[in-house]
Amino acid sequence: MIDLARLLPQSLVARVYLLYTVTLLLFVCSGLWLFYHFQFSEAVENAQDSATMLVEVATQTISDSAVIGDYDTIERLLEKAVRNSQFSSASFIDLAGGVLERDNAQPALVRPPRWLRDAVDANLGPVSRKISVGGRDYGVLQLNFAVDQVAAGLWQLMHAALGMALAGLAGGLLLIWFPLRHWLGSLERVNTFKAKFPRHGDPAGASMLQTLPLEFRSTFEILDQTAHRLRIELDNREEALASLRSALAELLPHVASDGFAGSDDIAVLSRTIADLVQERGARRDELQQAVAAAQSANRAKSEFLANMSHEIRTPMNGILGMTGLVLKTELTTQQRQFLGIVKTSADALLTIIDDILDLSKIEAGMLTMELIPFDLHQLVDEAVQSLSLRAQEKGLRLSSTMAPGVPRRMVGEQVRLRQILLNLLGNAVKFTDRGEVSVHCTLEPGETGDAMLHFTVTDTGIGISREKQQHIFQAFSQEDTSTTRRFGGSGLGLTISRRLVGLMQGELWVDSNLGSGSSFHFTMAFTEDVTPLQTPDALPPFSATLPPGTKEELPVLVVEDNLINQTLVMTLLQRGGYRVTLAGTGREAVEKFLMHRFCVILMDIQMPDLDGIEATKAIRLLERKQERLRTPIVAMTANAMRGDRERCLEAGMDDYLAKPIKTAEMFAIIDTLVAD
Ligand code: ADP
Repeated sequence: MIDLARLLPQSLVARVYLLYTVTLLLFVCSGLWLFYHFQFSEAVENAQDSATMLVEVATQTISDSAVIGDYDTIERLLEKAVRNSQFSSASFIDLAGGVLERDNAQPALVRPPRWLRDAVDANLGPVSRKISVGGRDYGVLQLNFAVDQVAAGLWQLMHAALGMALAGLAGGLLLIWFPLRHWLGSLERVNTFKAKFPRHGDPAGASMLQTLPLEFRSTFEILDQTAHRLRIELDNREEALASLRSALAELLPHVASDGFAGSDDIAVLSRTIADLVQERGARRDELQQAVAAAQSANRAKSEFLANMSHEIRTPMNGILGMTGLVLKTELTTQQRQFLGIVKTSADALLTIIDDILDLSKIEAGMLTMELIPFDLHQLVDEAVQSLSLRAQEKGLRLSSTMAPGVPRRMVGEQVRLRQILLNLLGNAVKFTDRGEVSVHCTLEPGETGDAMLHFTVTDTGIGISREKQQHIFQAFSQEDTSTTRRFGGSGLGLTISRRLVGLMQGELWVDSNLGSGSSFHFTMAFTEDVTPLQTPDALPPFSATLPPGTKEELPVLVVEDNLINQTLVMTLLQRGGYRVTLAGTGREAVEKFLMHRFCVILMDIQMPDLDGIEATKAIRLLERKQERLRTPIVAMTANAMRGDRERCLEAGMDDYLAKPIKTAEMFAIIDTLVAD
């Protein structure tokens, strides 16, 4: 089968034009055909009508001459009848068979085609009429049509019609050609668009789109937009490529000079990028190793600091205790003054060591929160109370307020909360010369929706400039060195406080203006304590080894390996009226326990052979085996690490005394335990 589509012209204009031409031809041909038929039947009909009329007239005129036998007249009449008519000949045949005939000598103007002549001939046969007068026949009149002439007339008419039809056809084809080319030709202009598609938004392009037929406009608009998007993308890519090239050229100048601008840019580019990626990868690995090394060094440093400060606390304990003891003896004024300075300096040193220990523990991740129930209102009051003396000395008003709804009993890190409050209040009192210092606590919704406690410590002191506000939270940073000289301090307080607040899921920040006081804010998550209050009666009872008597009779076992601490504790206890037995190691302590009875044992934790924990466990085991009454054991340790207290209590101890030992605290604990 012939594939029609392949025969069709490729161009759309040509296709439409072809269709139009064929349609027009069909119309013209059928018009011509109809015209021919109409003209043909009309011509035949006309010829027959005029033949009938002529025969009628001729019969009338010839009848008279036929009656009298005037053949000349008949001949003349016949000639007259055919002259200039559409008959080729007229003849009269009398009864005797004589024929009078006259021809029309007029030649046909054109020669019609044979088929037309035959068709006319078939329709126009000779016309004859009998001539009779008074019932008597005289002959027959016969007219023969000039078929050639009729056909020639028709042929001429058809010629004219054909000419007109062809002219109409040509005119029509010509008329449609231009608009068709103009309208549909714009589709072919897509090729031109491809080469120099007008810029999106360009007026030339817009007017070009306006000339398009409605049906194609949206297509071209989409084309236009797509081209625009592609162009933007291309521009972006080129820009990116250009900046990549310049970046590479800067990074590796030799690449730029080594034919980087050559034809296979992309290959060079990808090779260079691969090199760079590899290089960066290696560098990243190195950095990661360096970071890991730095982190472990930092941890080691923090651990070292934590250990060191712990080690320093032990001799500090000795210095402070001994100074306290000496201060209680008889001294000259100057000696008392000098020793007073020693004590103040040692106190200051201990504060700094405590700060360093805290910070090191936080950094080494050794500080975890210890959640215990406490009275918040009481804690805040106590913190304010402990600073009231210093505030009074400076003539400052000191106050605390609690917003309604702030719970009284809660579970949390009370030691750390007190530390933060004391630090902020201490700073506020330290940096304020006139006016007041206050602490206020409110409840506010936190980010996760839970309520948070919001503390604000406000003072009317020297204030902090805006630039300095960020630095004061960095370790060892003070507003300026003159501050250190004037007010003292290690510059660690705020750093530690901020870290502690962070551990309590809160934030610490400052609002301050130089000269007009400061407000330090901090928030913290909390849990309200809903367990019933524990009365002292609920505490587990235990009994002393000896019934309570006079203090002079009360024997105390002090287990301590450090000579200075031994002397200190022993002197303190003896001054307090106790009888002291010393044990230098855990093993010695157990031995002494087996041989004597004590009302209380003060037990150091870190000792060479058997440490305090092990010794306590051994003593508790012996008590059970020998069914002896329980002897209270109090831990004494400079180990300020979290969990120590628990470890001691778990091992069977009854209380805990942190070194450096505070005399009043020690006696209070011993008194309580012995009284029970
Ligand atoms: P320091 O032990 O020196 O007080 P902090 O970390 O507690 O260390 O404080 C750091 C510095 O921040 C202080 O030296 C001081 O310059 C400034 N600062 C802290 N609190 C206040 C305050 N309430 N008013 C003015 N300055 C303050």
